[in-house]
Amino acid sequence: MRTPVKKYLPIAAGILLAGLPLAAFSLWLDGNIEQKVRFETQLNADRTMTMINGRLTRVAAALNDLAARGITTCSPEHIEALRKTAFVTSAIKELSIIGTDGKQSCNDTGLQLAPPQMVGSAYQTKLPNIMLDVLHLPDVNQNMVRLRRRLTEGGSVAGLVAADMFVPIAANVAAGNSNVRVTGPDGAAIANVNGKVIAEARPDDLFSTMAESEGFGLRVSVSNTRSQMASKNSEVRTVGFVSSTIFGIFILGFMAFLMRKSQRGDPSTEFAVALSRGEFVPFYQPIIDIVTGKLIGAEVLVRWRKPDGKIVMPGSFIHVMEQNGLIRDLTHHLMRQSCIDIGPSYACRPHLRVSFNLTAEQFEDEATVGEIRSIFAKSPLKFSQIVLELTERQEPKSFSKTRQVIASLQVLGCKVGLDDVGTGHSGLSSILKLGVDIIKIDKMFVDSMDDDRNSATIIGTLVDLARKLGMDIVAEGVERFEQVTELRRRGIRMAQGFVFAPALPAQAFLQLVDAITPQQEAAAVQPSQLQAGILRAMSA
Ligand code: C2E
Ligand code: CA
Ligand code: CA
Repeated sequence: MRTPVKKYLPIAAGILLAGLPLAAFSLWLDGNIEQKVRFETQLNADRTMTMINGRLTRVAAALNDLAARGITTCSPEHIEALRKTAFVTSAIKELSIIGTDGKQSCNDTGLQLAPPQMVGSAYQTKLPNIMLDVLHLPDVNQNMVRLRRRLTEGGSVAGLVAADMFVPIAANVAAGNSNVRVTGPDGAAIANVNGKVIAEARPDDLFSTMAESEGFGLRVSVSNTRSQMASKNSEVRTVGFVSSTIFGIFILGFMAFLMRKSQRGDPSTEFAVALSRGEFVPFYQPIIDIVTGKLIGAEVLVRWRKPDGKIVMPGSFIHVMEQNGLIRDLTHHLMRQSCIDIGPSYACRPHLRVSFNLTAEQFEDEATVGEIRSIFAKSPLKFSQIVLELTERQEPKSFSKTRQVIASLQVLGCKVGLDDVGTGHSGLSSILKLGVDIIKIDKMFVDSMDDDRNSATIIGTLVDLARKLGMDIVAEGVERFEQVTELRRRGIRMAQGFVFAPALPAQAFLQLVDAITPQQEAAAVQPSQLQAGILRAMSA
């Protein structure tokens, strides 16, 4: 049976497969963006540090050059020399001569600014004689870096470097606006760009990279937030999301296609649909009293009448319907349809019987009794007309349960027949144990009774047994007139087979009933070919 789990497996697999690329892409993208932005941020911190080092090294070189040239006084020529050096050294804001008292004696700009305040202590750079100061300039309210070249005669020549020289491009990177901070050897802030990034960030959203200058004791830190970098990369994300969604939809569609295909090809689904559409119909194979020539009744054999009129035999679907649990509904449907088909005709012929085939499983389930009771309780078919066939080919799991169900069915008034006797595994002992009313001798024994001594013996034993236990015997698959004669000679009264008729559609069977089991109202019906066949067999 196709369980719900198996049925919905393709859907689950489809959702999984469709969702997988989305989830995988999203994960990959997140990781990729973070990695990319980290790399870029670190690169910018390193680049900024390299640039600061380069500028300060050039300023130090300019100061060394002035010292070497003896430009150490405030004479007009020396101030002119300072101006030229400041002019060609782009990072320098101002060059000045510092006295032995540490105060500025003169500068190249001629600006008279309030004296700068030292922030932290002077730092000896890795360059000989070059000191680094972080100053606060009260007039412009800015911190700046000053390099001082100590002079042998005392005092120094100094260059002021603007903080904005330290952060030209680092603040704007692909990841978004980064916070860039440059701090001095004592941790004093020299530059702080995009401070909002840090001020507004959640701590878990923030990440920073850092670079240090060994030569000048400075530190650059570049910070950013994950949310900002994600939004900056939203275009990449959108393109990726759209393409992976399209891919997901494609996979989902493909799985739906596969599922429809597999369901269309799934016989269980096909049979269930056919059953709900009433395409399974009962055919009736006549059972004849071969002593009197009278009609005893019929065995219901299912046929699948497809919408195009094609008739399908049970061999190609009964087994599957037994496996997937549809057999129960099929049996009930055939029983109800039989009530409609033959009920009126049988109602005025109470001696006629109708047999239904049940599976061994149905015979082990007490519910079967209730189902049969409710189907036939108000039908024109009486329980005494119903025969239920249990095949000997399927071995019952529990003989005691089967025995119980058989007994309950007999209490209802039904008869129980053991089908295909001699072909199963249980042998004669099961016939005795189960307490059936009828035994049906399989076609195999009927075919071989003339040539095979074993078959003849088995038939003889069954006839004796049936007589002793008060059971009826039906011979199945009788195809020739000689077989009818021989069966009668061996004491068998009832037979069914192609010699009389195959399983007939309801209307044909009803015509036969009317023809050979006359009622006043059926007198006008012409004897059919079937009746002629039966009469011929009887006279043989
Ligand atoms: P079965 O119950 O033994 O039914 C007798 C089978 O032998 C039927 O085949 C019938 O058409 C065939 N038959 C009858 N007379 C002759 C004959 O003279 N010569 C030959 N060669 N065959 C003959 P069918 O209708 O194909 O059914 C095959 C089997 O399918 C049945 O065997 C029965 O086991 C199962 N079946 C049919 N209808 C139902 C049903 O409603 N429920 C269940 N559970 N099984 C069913
Ligand atoms: Ca049967
Ligand atoms: Ca049979």
